[in-house]
Amino acid sequence: MTKCLTMNDQYWKRKSLAEMTADEWEGLCDGCALCCMHKVEDEDSGEVFYTDVACKLLDLGTCRCNDYANRASKVADCLVLSIDQPDAFNWLPASCAYRRLANGHGLPEWHPLITGRAESVHESGVSMRGKAVSENDSDDYTVLRQLANHPPGSDIG
Ligand code: SF4
Ligand code: SF4
Repeated sequence: MTKCLTMNDQYWKRKSLAEMTADEWEGLCDGCALCCMHKVEDEDSGEVFYTDVACKLLDLGTCRCNDYANRASKVADCLVLSIDQPDAFNWLPASCAYRRLANGHGLPEWHPLITGRAESVHESGVSMRGKAVSENDSDDYTVLRQLANHPPGSDIG
């Protein structure tokens, strides 16, 4: 996910999402792993809620995917983001750089591209490190638990 791009080159300020290179696009991901949580959608309102149950491929300790290159074939409902499918951004948390930039906002102050440190997303409390359980260890009850602190419609950072 996040690659080590220089924070001196603030490309996210001078380029649109569509203009970014593949590395720049990947560099926007802060590594929070919120999008790797199972989600539920209210059929009537369309509102999306996040659970604290993680995809089977997520490493709960690092918040990284264990098979990022093959994620789409391994997990059918993995959110593989692209500029061609902006509707998928609606499933992202308000803290997510892709959603923020698409909506005309900047990066939050704790973003690794701002701080120069991958740990800053975890120190900020936004990431799911230490908060999630794996779907491999979950039952029907735990999948219904929701993340009250990370409602996707709220603005974080
Ligand atoms: S929610 Fe956004 S920033 Fe966080 S892991 Fe997913 S794509 Fe990356
Ligand atoms: S396949 Fe990987 S990137 Fe996709 S939701 Fe699962 S852990 Fe996240």
